[in-house]
Amino acid sequence: MLYIGSHVRFNNEQLLGSVKEALSYGANTFMFYTGAPQNTIRSNINDDLLKEAHKLMINNNIDINKVICHAPYIINLANNEDESKYLFSQEFLRKEIDRCMTLGIKYLVLHPGSAVKLDKISAINNILNGLNNILREDDNITVLLETMAGKGTEIGSKMDEISTIINGVYLKEKVGVCLDTCHLNDSGININDFDKYLDIFDKYIGINKIGCIHINDSKNEISSHKDRHENIGFGTIGFKTLLNVIYNKRLEDIPKILETPYIGDNPPYKYEIEMIKNKAFNDKLKDILSKEEA
Ligand code: FE
Ligand code: FE
Ligand code: ZN
Repeated sequence: MLYIGSHVRFNNEQLLGSVKEALSYGANTFMFYTGAPQNTIRSNINDDLLKEAHKLMINNNIDINKVICHAPYIINLANNEDESKYLFSQEFLRKEIDRCMTLGIKYLVLHPGSAVKLDKISAINNILNGLNNILREDDNITVLLETMAGKGTEIGSKMDEISTIINGVYLKEKVGVCLDTCHLNDSGININDFDKYLDIFDKYIGINKIGCIHINDSKNEISSHKDRHENIGFGTIGFKTLLNVIYNKRLEDIPKILETPYIGDNPPYKYEIEMIKNKAFNDKLKDILSKEEA
């Protein structure tokens, strides 16, 4: 079954607002941040809103097991030069895991982190030590390490970096991977040959470890290490190639999440989800949305 959705907001209505937004796009899953992705200000979970959110999901066949939360960017487990920042990242990630469990969410996407001035091996060790410090046996969640574009000193743009982290975590069943098509392209993977990538991925990590796929086109050429998302079909990867990822038989039950840019003030997701369901590219998308009132 196709599980398709997009990034949605999480504002004063909390998860209930996220569900409503997802439904307005015709989505059957979604991804949210528990607050602004750039900061750590988080409000308490409201029980009544949460109950309503769960009810709305059930009534609309949204399987909460396929809904994704994304941890904020400011968590950086890779660098421990400033001990207090390193500890803060761990504490904040721990709180995010607890928040997800309160909400009933099973998947939390995490950027592995940036090495900054450290060498890669130290950075990878910091990441897996950080995860080992915070993951608990009774956690009912999978932390998905996202494949990164390799911008700056980002860890996670190479398969062996991801596999080294997973292999170093004691509670391996609590970690998985989130693929991002824009990041893969920018890191040097030819998405046209996606099955070849999956073969290698299966050999070194295991396809069963993939918990989510971010579907984004890229503004830049393969191996650019830039990480600039483009609307599907408008970038260097192209609509057909992205469709082949979305409908790949080996990835059938994995939620696919759009993180494509707004056009002006308008979210493109309703149209992009429609294109995906109809398997037909709408080359007027940007014209239509740039003229629409926000
Ligand atoms: Fe991400
Ligand atoms: Fe992503
Ligand atoms: Zn990105």
